[in-house]
Amino acid sequence: MITRTTNTSARRSTTRRSFAHPRHPATTERPRTMQPKASSEKPRTFEKPRPFSTASKQNFSSPVVKATFEAHFSPNKPTQKLRIMCLGGLEEVGRNMTLLEYGDDIVIVDMGLQFPEENMPGIDYIIPDITYLKDKIKKIRGVIITHGHYDHIGAISHLIPALGSPTIYTAALTAEIIKRRHEEYKLPMLNIQKIDPDVDKITLGSFNIEFFRVNHNIPDSFGVVFNTPVGTVVHTGDFKIDFNPINDKPMDLNNVAMIGSRGVLALLSDSTDAPHSGYQLSETEITHDLEKIFQQAKGRIIVGTFASLINRVQQLIQLGEKYGRKVLLEGRSMNANIEIAQNLGYMHIKPGTLIEDGEFKKLPDEKLMVIGTGAQGEENAVLMRIANNEHRFISIKPGDSIVFSSSVIPGNERTIQTLKDTFYRLGAKVYHYQNMDIHAGGHAKAEDLKLIIKLFKPKYFVPIEANHFMLNIHADIAEGIGIPKANIFIADNGQVMEFSKATPQSETIGVLTKEKVPTEYIMVDGLGVGDVSNIVLRDRQLMAEDGMFVIIATVKRNTGELVGSPDIISRGFVYMKESRELIEEARGLVRTVCKDKGPEHTVDPMEIKNKLRETIGKFLYKQTKRRPMVLPVVIEV
Ligand SMILES: [Zn+2]
Repeated sequence: MITRTTNTSARRSTTRRSFAHPRHPATTERPRTMQPKASSEKPRTFEKPRPFSTASKQNFSSPVVKATFEAHFSPNKPTQKLRIMCLGGLEEVGRNMTLLEYGDDIVIVDMGLQFPEENMPGIDYIIPDITYLKDKIKKIRGVIITHGHYDHIGAISHLIPALGSPTIYTAALTAEIIKRRHEEYKLPMLNIQKIDPDVDKITLGSFNIEFFRVNHNIPDSFGVVFNTPVGTVVHTGDFKIDFNPINDKPMDLNNVAMIGSRGVLALLSDSTDAPHSGYQLSETEITHDLEKIFQQAKGRIIVGTFASLINRVQQLIQLGEKYGRKVLLEGRSMNANIEIAQNLGYMHIKPGTLIEDGEFKKLPDEKLMVIGTGAQGEENAVLMRIANNEHRFISIKPGDSIVFSSSVIPGNERTIQTLKDTFYRLGAKVYHYQNMDIHAGGHAKAEDLKLIIKLFKPKYFVPIEANHFMLNIHADIAEGIGIPKANIFIADNGQVMEFSKATPQSETIGVLTKEKVPTEYIMVDGLGVGDVSNIVLRDRQLMAEDGMFVIIATVKRNTGELVGSPDIISRGFVYMKESRELIEEARGLVRTVCKDKGPEHTVDPMEIKNKLRETIGKFLYKQTKRRPMVLPVVIEV
């Protein structure tokens, strides 16, 4: 996979904006705070949660949602331009967010997060830049979320309050996962309308919207059909075609063909697995691969996966039941998601399969399985805690089988490698199956993609949801089956596509324009959104590379004269005890900078600081060819 180079990241950093917080000049010392603005906003009303047991098709499909879905486009009314742009998801696998804009109406599809790259120390994840929407909040008619994976829902809690809390339309399982995740932020409640993709149609401004069920590795995934005054636009979301899915209905190809037969202007289609030829395996077949581990394992089986990989967890639990293993679910998000899926009937677990800590300790190894978070080597996730012997009661012993059930997200390679090394050293066997993967097993491969293009028969084709090279491969696939090259738009993040008619009767023409809306990285660190600016990140990179050098100088307020000997602290730069000479020379330089300037000079501590930073920085570079972060502290007495 391609990751962005440092240079590009640095370029992107220069105009990074924050929405949840005002820009803050401070660099490193600022405490992390969460969302002061959002809490002042009036909480939206929210449909009362229904008890799960009574959930039925009627409950999911709201009558409000069905309201006025009728073609309301007058054939003689002059049309405007339909503008489509992706704020993320065209240069990476992650940060998915697509906008459709027609006149005064904007509809958003997905609001995902992206995992950080290796040159972003301390960053938890990246979310889309919503600068373009800032003065268009009144135009936002709704947000449609295609499924419950973090690269499609992860930015909701951060962005929705900043966008005037528009209504979210999504399927039942996704709605519950979003709600559960949102609860952790202690923000005003989200306004979520549950839809049934098989039944519901909604009208949001100029958009008459339908849905079509797709398969993925989480149930309740769907694609979206936007009927607009200039034509029909289809967004597939993440999808695979699975005739034998787990606890889900097969993708509705009949519906897909019907939509195609009515005429599709543009198809925006998932490119994640475009580089792989052939057809994607059914979720049921993926189970057979997993089963081999159960046949071989003598000791405990410990699986690290994503909490949102509901199907995989279901497969593991079923295999556990088949091979007589009791299951301990570890991790808060894991337990929450499984409970939600179970309550909605998307997960079937036999009574007695799931066990608590106490029972786990009593059962023999060959009767045990642990399913936890952490296949990406995430800090604090279950796998990491077990590896570091920091788990409440699980530590690795020879004979354990460790299963990484997801591919490596770029940026996490080294961490995962180290984690695997640790497990091997502790005597465990490690399995890492790519086809049990959130990014591969769940997505359509080349032949599936061809089928979907043939069924929708779009005039224009837009590959989405992957790195640039995968978009190109998907474009070649489309061209190979007859979509003219000129009608395939390989866009970058933020690049605007426009579709319009010269007259109401004429044919709609699409253009991939040169216009680009902002798509900077908005970095989330702990509870802070966008408050890690390029300056903070640069400081972190500097400290990580060359360490820091702190000078504490006490000076007389009226003369600038140094009081006593300046204190020097070095961390990650040189070992003080072995670099006495260097430190002494630096001290001497501090004395030269902080000379007594006599009573007629006013002392400016800022000036002293700058002078110290410059002089000491140059000196250290000359002596060591390293550039530690020089941090002068001037105390006036
Ligand atoms: Zn997904």
